[in-house]
Amino acid sequence: MQLPKASQLHHQRRACWGSGSHQHVPLRHNSKKQRVTLSHVAAPEAPVQTASFLNSNFVTNKEQYVALYNRSIEDPAGFWSEIAEQFHWQKKWEPNHMQYNFDVRKGPISVEWFRGATTNIAYNCLDRNVEAGHGDDVCFVWEGNDVGREKSMTYSEALEEVCRLANWLRAAGVKKGDAVAIYMPMLLELPLAMLACARIGAVHSVVFGGFSAEALGGRMEDCKAKVLLTASGVRRGPKNIELKKIADKALDLCAKAGHQVETVLVYENDNAVPAADCPFTGGRDRWWQSEVEQQPTTCPVEWVDAEHPLFLLYTSGSTGKPKGVLHSTGGYMVYAATTMRHVFGLQRGDVYWCTADCGWITGHTYLAYGPLLNGATQVVFEGVPTHPTPARCWEVVAAHRVTHFYTAPTAIRSLMGFGDPWVTQCDTSSLRLLGSVGEPINPEAWRWYHKVVGGGRCPIVDTWWQTETGGHMITPLPGAWEEKPGSATLPFFGVRPVVLDEKGNELQGEAEGVLAIAQPWPSTLRTVYGDHERYQSNYFGPFPGYYFTGDGCRRDADGYYWITGRVDDVINVSGHRIGTAEVESALVAHPACAEAAVVGYDHPIKGQGIYAYVTLMTGTEPSQALRKELVGAVRSSIGAFAAPDVIHWAPGLPKTRSGKIMRRVLRKIASKEEDQLGDVSTLADPGVVQTLVELRGK
Ligand code: ATP
Ligand code: MG
Repeated sequence: MQLPKASQLHHQRRACWGSGSHQHVPLRHNSKKQRVTLSHVAAPEAPVQTASFLNSNFVTNKEQYVALYNRSIEDPAGFWSEIAEQFHWQKKWEPNHMQYNFDVRKGPISVEWFRGATTNIAYNCLDRNVEAGHGDDVCFVWEGNDVGREKSMTYSEALEEVCRLANWLRAAGVKKGDAVAIYMPMLLELPLAMLACARIGAVHSVVFGGFSAEALGGRMEDCKAKVLLTASGVRRGPKNIELKKIADKALDLCAKAGHQVETVLVYENDNAVPAADCPFTGGRDRWWQSEVEQQPTTCPVEWVDAEHPLFLLYTSGSTGKPKGVLHSTGGYMVYAATTMRHVFGLQRGDVYWCTADCGWITGHTYLAYGPLLNGATQVVFEGVPTHPTPARCWEVVAAHRVTHFYTAPTAIRSLMGFGDPWVTQCDTSSLRLLGSVGEPINPEAWRWYHKVVGGGRCPIVDTWWQTETGGHMITPLPGAWEEKPGSATLPFFGVRPVVLDEKGNELQGEAEGVLAIAQPWPSTLRTVYGDHERYQSNYFGPFPGYYFTGDGCRRDADGYYWITGRVDDVINVSGHRIGTAEVESALVAHPACAEAAVVGYDHPIKGQGIYAYVTLMTGTEPSQALRKELVGAVRSSIGAFAAPDVIHWAPGLPKTRSGKIMRRVLRKIASKEEDQLGDVSTLADPGVVQTLVELRGK
């Protein structure tokens, strides 16, 4: 099959981007004459028929969306093939390239996209952009932890760096399919290392640089990492963390468990820990700077099957032991790029900033891969949002004229707690779009984000998805339909969400139940690494025929989806099913409350009672009167049945390193079972548990 050259395809896209604004561009693909009309909205200018429309246009109204969405569900293979045309494939896929079994009753679960094709995601991120003439475009703007430490890198430079590191990995004996562990601060070397692995077909496993030796050791042992890429130290806020010391301990633990990591490449991050203060084991350890800089700046690409594993990544562990989620190459690439472009409405010249660390799925799909697949310019931030002051994020936005800002509700609520002036003293007028991910965003925080950060003019994309889904699943498309604060709104192309009752029956129309997905999307997780059985039982066992998300959900009369929290977190009070997210929203709406976390506990009369942990705004003191007010706030906003039985003052909450509240830990504290916490290896600050125990009953 004759392939169009990547550069030609790219030229077409550039022409469209050149048209500048985020406006409706006249459609060119109108071969089939089927017109979608709804009486209350003007008909689109031309019928939207094929998915390749999306390669050069944005969806601007619901009718276009509905037509494309229906097509994506009815003919997924055809739909995604058309979109995939814009990428470089060394070999094209077969006609029936999408094969799957989503039903455990019919045999092992399997998902396959782009069967027969070969490609390389790093090539598509870098070489493809350089070959299309965009080599001098800025790829990364790095903003260090300390104010004033900055650098930037073009696409050509990034390609050279990736090639050097890829050559080093090959020289160290890393082969296609080998696992490489990455335990690094948010230096540019982190996303570059991921791309270098992808370039040679190695499977990266990024472990967040805030994790303990036990967590890193366990993960390296689990994936049998051949090489570890790490750094001497991390600079985080006012602190220096001796990362290599932790890595050494992890390497020992891993060896004791029976697996020896052969080679360790250490980046000297001298701003945190200079080489002289960094432990170094001769023979095993190598210095990054001196070795990698010697390598040539070109490196042959390893073409891999579309289903070749790209990375494995452990989930946050907010509901249990983390799972090693495995994603493959082709489908993930196409889906990452498409969600990135359409959910953010991203165009050339935009400056995008995602605050996530590469240790999380968000830092994979919407930092390391998605922006580069779209040729974007992005900010990479090493620091923390409150260092040196709570104005830091907005100073970075002002300094780099950031247009797109993507963060987590936990960060939004925390910054909201410091008060508006930290934001309003900065020039945030460059912002055009705001995004949220990780937890349900309570309407109060949504409104603050919209009004104070976004100046009331930026759409907010509340993106619901998971490590397992690889990319956005339910999310607004900016400007295409009305948003409702707290709702992720509608499914992305190719995603068929269903609301199930407890027996697994699909509920129609307005409904509340369990959220499941009825058919595969291109970036479906392919397995749990080394444990396909756990993959099948965890995700496909509970409701045969469906991918089970673990989240509760309500669909309203407009078909919008509202995530109500984890299914485990739904509380049953005297027969009323209450989502934790709802009660938390009502509490946070009170001006004194900065953050709230709600769990159920055994109640002698009601079955379950509502136990609320409340963090107050900076400067507010707890009191009996305030307690009454908070209970009253829930009573009036939801109803008396949802009034919390207990308000527990919480100076801090147990959160995962990615900022998610670990409600299972809070349940244990509420029921005085803190001696049975389970796996807390992903807890950010284990000290909060003791503080909360001491404040119980106060
Ligand atoms: P584990 O699966 O180990 O318990 P985790 O679920 O916290 O960990 P992630 O994959 O990081 O790991 O998180 C995905 C979950 O985050 C979703 O299932 C959902 O509960 C929540 N979530 C993410 N984005 C949103 C959102 N926009 N709205 C509501 N909930 C969200
Ligand atoms: Mg999960």
